[in-house]
Amino acid sequence: MRAGLALTNVIPAATADHMPETSAAPTQSHAEIRTAVVRLCADFPGEYWRQVDADRAYPAAFVQALTRAGYLACLVPAEYGGSGLGLAAAAAILEEIHKSGGNGAACHAQMYVMGTLLRHGSAAQKERWLRPIAAGELRLQAFGVTEPAAGTDTTAIRTTAVRRGDRYVVNGQKVWTSRAEHSDLMLLLARTSPRDQVAKKTAGLSVFLVDLRLARGKGLTIRPIRTMLNHATTEVFFDDLEVPAENLIGIEGNGFRHILDGMNAERILIAAECIGDARWFIAKATDYAKSRIVFDRPIGQNQGVQFPIARAYAASEAADLMVQHAAALYDAGESCAKEANMAKLLAADASWQAADMCLQTHGGFGFASEYDIERKFRETRLYQVAPISTNLILAYLAEHVLGLPRSY
Ligand SMILES: Cc1cc2nc3c(=O)[nH]c(=O)nc-3n(C[C@H](O)[C@H](O)[C@H](O)COP(=O)(O)OP(=O)(O)OC[C@H]3O[C@@H](n4cnc5c(N)ncnc54)[C@H](O)[C@@H]3O)c2cc1C
Repeated sequence: MRAGLALTNVIPAATADHMPETSAAPTQSHAEIRTAVVRLCADFPGEYWRQVDADRAYPAAFVQALTRAGYLACLVPAEYGGSGLGLAAAAAILEEIHKSGGNGAACHAQMYVMGTLLRHGSAAQKERWLRPIAAGELRLQAFGVTEPAAGTDTTAIRTTAVRRGDRYVVNGQKVWTSRAEHSDLMLLLARTSPRDQVAKKTAGLSVFLVDLRLARGKGLTIRPIRTMLNHATTEVFFDDLEVPAENLIGIEGNGFRHILDGMNAERILIAAECIGDARWFIAKATDYAKSRIVFDRPIGQNQGVQFPIARAYAASEAADLMVQHAAALYDAGESCAKEANMAKLLAADASWQAADMCLQTHGGFGFASEYDIERKFRETRLYQVAPISTNLILAYLAEHVLGLPRSY
């Protein structure tokens, strides 16, 4: 089965009474896709995620199933073998994965990273890479931007790419390059002109598609980083790595702008995952609060227990409206930086609020790994920091939306 073309095959005609209990509310978009994703995720229950988490293993079977069903190619245009769906559909897929207790972080990057290639790649580059990505033959899961010394200040990155004839020679280091060990390709941001020799510090950066299969051991070293969550993240070292000049994406020196384009999509998709997490935590807490009897009555009869659940529910529903709004603007080709940032901020806050509430509702049992709460708690905490930290979103809104003085 050609993965990129398979999406319509896995989706049954949706009817209201067809929907499983965990599926989306009727007001939500893409009910058919949601139903099909819920069905796929049923093959990967809590036990599966618990085991890969305990082993710090890559959820290869899950990623394979998603790829085969065509979900990771949902944003690739039909002319390259994808489904050509919009961002709202991709958001629905990721939300349902998280709402079912899974974690899309093992593969979500492919959805938004390929946007840079799609928008700025040449026709030949798209033909060469997008088609096999859509067919599930190549993985574009790695995104090398963050560096140890630069942090959030992306323009301060020190990894350089120097043109020598028909190649660029790359030297430097990236950190937190997730999934690099499980990806065939990596989108890399490097400096092609020194920061003190360009008019604006955002200039002089360039984007490359690095073929990791060819690069490993020939100037590229990948070292896993052990973290509090199972995220397959790594640090990557470049030591005179040669990258063919034909792998430059877009215009040399315009790389910052090229990747910036994709960041709204990334924020909206991660926000959708947060909504899925929040809904998982709320459902889990509600069920437990109804069934756990203490002092001869369900704990959920106490307002001290039910109010935090209701508050988390209200916060997640409000955040979801912003996620849907941002995705709709994105799909309409309208400017959505403000909305994408607010969606990420509100959804990450809602999922963290729900996570804390869920742990508290479960008392001591919330700490037992077999309940999956402590795992999801660790996983959803990441989104206060990555892919952009809460403070930087607030700084963006303060400066660019409200016109307050720049704080940094
Ligand atoms: C598990 C994981 C996976 C990741 N995956 C990837 C990946 O695949 N590819 C990739 O390129 N990156 C990845 N990242 C990196 C991630 O995007 C960064 O960690 C994040 O953007 C924050 O940058 P930093 O860690 O360097 O924090 P810093 O920039 O060092 O900031 C530290 C703290 O200071 C705050 N701060 C900094 N400056 C300001 C300011 N001006 N005003 C107010 N507060 C400020 C920040 O909010 C933050 O809380 C990942 C990170 C993690 C932890």
